[in-house]
Amino acid sequence: MYKRAIDTDERPFVLIWELTQACELACKHCRAEAEPARHPKELTTREGKELLADAAAFGDGQLVVLSGGDPLARPDVIELIEYGTSQGLRMTMTPSGTGSLTRERIEAMADAGLKRMAVSLDGATAATHDEFRQEAGSFEQTMAAARAAREEGLPLQINTTVCQETVADLPAIRDLVEELDAVLWSVFFLVPVGRGAVLDSIDPEAAEEVMEWLHEVQSTSDFGVKTTEAPHYRRVALQSKFPDGEQATPPDGIGRRTGITAGDGFAFVSHIGDVYPSGFLPRSAGNVRDVGIVDIYRNAPLFTSLRDKDALKGKCGACPFRQVCGGSRSRAYAHTADPLASDPLCSFVPEGYDGPLPDSWNDEGDKPETVPSLRSSLSD
Ligand code: SF4
Repeated sequence: MYKRAIDTDERPFVLIWELTQACELACKHCRAEAEPARHPKELTTREGKELLADAAAFGDGQLVVLSGGDPLARPDVIELIEYGTSQGLRMTMTPSGTGSLTRERIEAMADAGLKRMAVSLDGATAATHDEFRQEAGSFEQTMAAARAAREEGLPLQINTTVCQETVADLPAIRDLVEELDAVLWSVFFLVPVGRGAVLDSIDPEAAEEVMEWLHEVQSTSDFGVKTTEAPHYRRVALQSKFPDGEQATPPDGIGRRTGITAGDGFAFVSHIGDVYPSGFLPRSAGNVRDVGIVDIYRNAPLFTSLRDKDALKGKCGACPFRQVCGGSRSRAYAHTADPLASDPLCSFVPEGYDGPLPDSWNDEGDKPETVPSLRSSLSD
């Protein structure tokens, strides 16, 4: 059976803690449906430190992402970075692109031991990004913060949402990722939850084209590329390397570091301590106020079922790539309320498969046939 470098039955590659839902922005895609004020039942500083101490039991160098909302809306965020670092955790953060992301705070984050800062660019210009973020000035503040992070020696990650509203800007955003000297471009394929439900996903054919393009970007860029909620990027990479289709599992490192899906290498703790397989799969497996995060991750039935690729249904269950992909469980849940159903964003149908296809494929929609200008932009 396919084995990853980290045993994801035992520990997640990525543990996200949503410090707060409070945020000054009201972005169109917001999973958290962020609000201006902090929730009165947020995990306290003491409870947060207990969570971090518990997370250290996953093993050396566990990666923790402090997210939100805007994590900077909590006054104890620097204390929490310092504490997590003292516990041996690799602490990273995804602050919002607002005026509170000042150079002084970035310097304090770096001094506290932060290993990486991620900011979001969902448009390549002030006009498109600020429209998406619903906040004038967000683009300039984000760019200034990204440059300040690099000047402080803090590795930078750029996050981008892919949907109909943003797809045309991808080539120009790629250029900004390079210009900003980011180490990683994390490309999130929209899952219709939270405020993101009002946005339009691209269709499976367009997603395929974006992934093929991203694979070329990865091959020609100094920065890394990873997809979020689109694990079939690994299938696309394998099919590119083995076009005759003889290799459904990687003989080398392809996909290993990114070989994660909800509950399988990934866990999300909400601002009030509920534990979800991902931030886009709103089914709780317990609360860290009652049960430790390690216990929930390793033993909760929801998590163990999501790690069993042979339990997948529909074409994902019949797919020869299911061990390296497995589809977005969050998107399957958003469309069917069954986290083990097929991922409707993937256009691949296994050879000989004659079972049901995703219901959404029958929807009549005003969908784009192709993604404009991605390939031509690469050769420019
Ligand atoms: S059918 Fe499912 S498991 Fe196969 S590549 Fe597509 S999303 Fe992945």
